[in-house]
Amino acid sequence: MLLLALACTGSPGADSTDTASVAELRSFGAAFDADVLEAHVRALASEELAGRKAGSEGDALAVAYVQEALETAGFEAAAGGWEQPFVDSKGTDSLNVLGVRWGADPRVGDEIVIVGAHHDHLGQRRDGSYFPGANDNASGMAVLLGLAEAFGAGQALDRTLVLGSWGSEEVNLDGSRVYVEDPPSDLPIDDTVFYVNLDMVGAYEARETLYALDATRGTLAREVVSAASASSSLNVDMRYEGELSDSVNFCEAGVPEVFFWTDDPDCYHQTCDTADRLDYDDMSAVGWLVGDVLDRLLSADLDLAGPRAEGCPVD
Ligand SMILES: [Zn+2]
Repeated sequence: MLLLALACTGSPGADSTDTASVAELRSFGAAFDADVLEAHVRALASEELAGRKAGSEGDALAVAYVQEALETAGFEAAAGGWEQPFVDSKGTDSLNVLGVRWGADPRVGDEIVIVGAHHDHLGQRRDGSYFPGANDNASGMAVLLGLAEAFGAGQALDRTLVLGSWGSEEVNLDGSRVYVEDPPSDLPIDDTVFYVNLDMVGAYEARETLYALDATRGTLAREVVSAASASSSLNVDMRYEGELSDSVNFCEAGVPEVFFWTDDPDCYHQTCDTADRLDYDDMSAVGWLVGDVLDRLLSADLDLAGPRAEGCPVD
């Protein structure tokens, strides 16, 4: 339960996020450099990981890669450990990886902001070829790991930040559903005030557009993304798109959310979804934008207890 009374701001009105001061406080260093993001994508989309099918050896290697990066950045395990194991709806042993940085502000430190991306993909075909899943979703994972670096040890965060790497998204959005239904005991959903989803963020060039899905009119997401977009080079389209990714499990649980996505008309769920065709300069700009959004969400200046239980957005 959220029982914190916020001293400041009241409702998230027009001006509460509309200052440049939040973003100006932080330098993200090299966390979102294009070559850093590309190195993550190439590692996760490599032949060795063979398409990261849930439960496969490649999936386990991806999980180990993510966990090491989170630990190195200064994140901690939640109650129950780094891994949240589960059996997915195809009967496969699968798991989520969770890293936490505990909030330091006495007013809002118990409030949890989660950023999530799925690490699994479609695996191999019978002919031995594999689905690299570079855009879907090594790209989202790369930005997630950039966020780990940008919001890692060495600085106090007002709110608690959880980075979630979901398993079995390609099965039935299972990993994030398991998390929402049965989170670690120290990360209750009732205290979770916002969710940011990253799925397929490496194909900006196809439409010259970053979609901020579910940031519809009147939502907290619209307010925060609008404020962050003002200092981004990217064209950001905020609209409703439906139940496409892990974000739906959070909004159905009453957690306000936004889902960052780029359209990939040529190679979505194809073997041509390779690391060499992604658009790393724009992915870097996506990283900066999402970092700015997250910086605002973690700041005690913004009231997130009010918009809680916003529910799923409508068109
Ligand atoms: Zn995906």
